[in-house]
Amino acid sequence: MADDCLFCKIRDGQIPAKVVYKDDKSLAFEDINPQAPMHVLVIPTRHIPTINDIATEDTELVGHLFEVAARIARERGHAATGYRTVMNCNRNAGQTVFHIHLHVLGGRTFTWPPG
Ligand code: 5GP
Ligand code: ZN
Repeated sequence: MADDCLFCKIRDGQIPAKVVYKDDKSLAFEDINPQAPMHVLVIPTRHIPTINDIATEDTELVGHLFEVAARIARERGHAATGYRTVMNCNRNAGQTVFHIHLHVLGGRTFTWPPG
């Protein structure tokens, strides 16, 4: 837990968010500045700052984030048409919140390569 972490505060209910899924090890909520018709963030309950901090014992947890992402996308009808998951790491990728989060974006067509 980091005292100044925005997503720890959302997890703890200190900052409101539109929570769409919650279990004992993860939480998913709507992004405040959506970049697509579906833009959900899936976070581990436990504070992990960046992808660089993922340890071997976290690999099941990180896999779980993808399982949650796929479930949400499926429920919203995006499984067959497709959707994008993104996890940014540090400055060059544009990470702004240092508690890992999987962006789950859908409802439009995405370009490749990303900007
Ligand atoms: P990053 O740039 O770190 O990959 O993604 C951070 C994401 O968090 C951004 O998409 C941004 O819109 C979202 N975000 C920032 N502050 C808040 C907030 O207070 N509430 C919610 N729900 N999302 C936030
Ligand atoms: Zn945190």
